[in-house]
Amino acid sequence: MIESKDIKEIVKNLGADLCGVAPVERFNEAPKGFHPQDIYIDSKSIVVYAKRLPVESLFATNCVPYTYVNNIITQKVDELGFEVALKLEDQGIKAIPIPSDDPYEYWEPENSYGRAILSLRHAGYLAGLGVLGKNTLLINKEFGNMIQIGAVLVPVELEGDTITTYEGCPTDCNLCIESCPVKALNGNTVDQKLCRPYSNYRTEKGYILKKCNVCRRICPNYLGIES
Ligand code: SF4
Ligand code: SF4
Repeated sequence: MIESKDIKEIVKNLGADLCGVAPVERFNEAPKGFHPQDIYIDSKSIVVYAKRLPVESLFATNCVPYTYVNNIITQKVDELGFEVALKLEDQGIKAIPIPSDDPYEYWEPENSYGRAILSLRHAGYLAGLGVLGKNTLLINKEFGNMIQIGAVLVPVELEGDTITTYEGCPTDCNLCIESCPVKALNGNTVDQKLCRPYSNYRTEKGYILKKCNVCRRICPNYLGIES
């Protein structure tokens, strides 16, 4: 019988920097339609992993390097999920990989609001990979918020990792909220209708570029949390 530690070893050997496991019971508060069992009815455990990305791209004055880094890391984490699913299937374990970013179905055009089929930042929290910051990003103790998250759903009961208890946001810190140029953050969520048009734009040639990352780079814990 495969154990949690065996799956984490497989995932890390395939290139993940972080990996944790969340039993499906931890997702009881997921919104209706966005629970792991809404994606795959037999889900019993959610294996969540992350890869880090080159941090200095945050500080390039031209937004192309940051866009490029984000595009590559999304692709790499998606490929990792694909490989993890294949490897697990080779061992007789069914596995459903979840895309790291898109595609997704839910879309409210009037609010420019999209919702992924599974909230990976919440899954990361529930699998012990970090805590949620007021900028809505997962903050990992070692790598800060410079990580990209992916997950696979498996129909196997696995031991869950301990949910982290370290402090992601000092109580008196509101830097991300105060620094957002369009005031899209409220400490719990991001108003996508405000953030999306400001942080993404389409060039005349048709490229989509990420031109804002202030809430990520201003965070004192963007590189990790000092003990
Ligand atoms: S990406 Fe920019 S616009 Fe969007 S929430 Fe962060 S700081 Fe605000
Ligand atoms: S800038 Fe401050 S409030 Fe915002 S996520 Fe980072 S630590 Fe939390």
